[in-house]
Amino acid sequence: MGTDIRVHEVYAGRVLQGAGARDLVPDETERLGARRVLVVAAPSSAGTARDLADRLGERYAGTFGRPAQHTPVEVTADALDLAREVRADALVAIGGGSAIGLGKALAVRTGMPQVAVPTTYAGSEATPVLGETESGVKTTRRDPALAPGTVVYDPELTLTMPRGLTLTSALNALAHAVEALWDARASAATRAFGIEAADGILTALPVALDHPADVDARSRLQEAAWLAGACLAQARMGLHHQLAHALGGTFGLPHAELHALLLPYVMRFNLPAAPDTASRLARVVNGDPTPAVAALAALHDGPTTLEALGVPRAELRAVAERVAADPYPNPRPVTADAVEELLLAAW
Ligand code: NAD
Repeated sequence: MGTDIRVHEVYAGRVLQGAGARDLVPDETERLGARRVLVVAAPSSAGTARDLADRLGERYAGTFGRPAQHTPVEVTADALDLAREVRADALVAIGGGSAIGLGKALAVRTGMPQVAVPTTYAGSEATPVLGETESGVKTTRRDPALAPGTVVYDPELTLTMPRGLTLTSALNALAHAVEALWDARASAATRAFGIEAADGILTALPVALDHPADVDARSRLQEAAWLAGACLAQARMGLHHQLAHALGGTFGLPHAELHALLLPYVMRFNLPAAPDTASRLARVVNGDPTPAVAALAALHDGPTTLEALGVPRAELRAVAERVAADPYPNPRPVTADAVEELLLAAW
């Protein structure tokens, strides 16, 4: 295919968004013809899962309550046992990227239709991608069968996000949008999603941090996270995601915190080579985007450096060399020296 041909595919066929949308989940499962609904819920969503079970009544089959980060295959096997035991024919996954990931892992193994009810800004529900771990090794696959057909976004389910998760998860979403914007092959639709996502996050995040119970700000953030997830599904991710994968995989680091701390460093590195993205983001923040994002990242009470996350300084060169040996598509050429310098600054 010619390199100037852009392809755009759309995943979730049906998206509901708005305060109280969670009450429509039983109707959504009914639309799918479900008779025995398995609920997959993060511990933080146990209350929501119980309410849903009550509303499903006779169609409620059971709950699997312990999804884990990076979808370990042993956890998936346990959930699959439960799905078979209760004769589930559809599933609802409620929680952050970990719960949504487990829902995808079950759906692709069983063919069950899925309804995703995200409670963070990770965006996994909008992608046909799943990362799974087996004996500590993470493999990622892409398959349209992984993408939930229905997504229900209820901003009220995000009100309980602690401040640190709100901040880091929103910056994780911003990273999806920014990388899509500077992907030279992103489609027109993806660029539109990317700029609306960046605008939503950069506008609503400061409000949500000051007023965590502001449903309007949470709603705007959640919409932005949806579009950012769609960017992640559509665009080619660049240096930012490559660094997050390389560091996260090697050192087992927390997903959202790692993304949040890396983003301003990668923006400083890439934006001079992506002038269109730089000027679009400058219009959103009314100034220089990199310091604006760095100021947000610095608001985190948790680790804001690679050192604080526990990455050994002596390992940075090896990571830089691995990244430069086989770089993801990136607006600025990636060399081991430049990446090492970036990592040392983030350390
Ligand atoms: P997570 O799902 O692991 O959640 C982090 C913690 O926050 C958990 O303890 C969870 O119970 C809690 N939590 C979630 N929502 C909450 C809420 N509303 N209130 C209070 N606590 C809440 O973290 P995440 O950052 O959402 O997702 C990270 C995982 O998702 C990683 O495994 C990552 O690889 C994966 N991911 C995959 C994709 C994809 O496209 N495949 C995209 C993004 C993330």
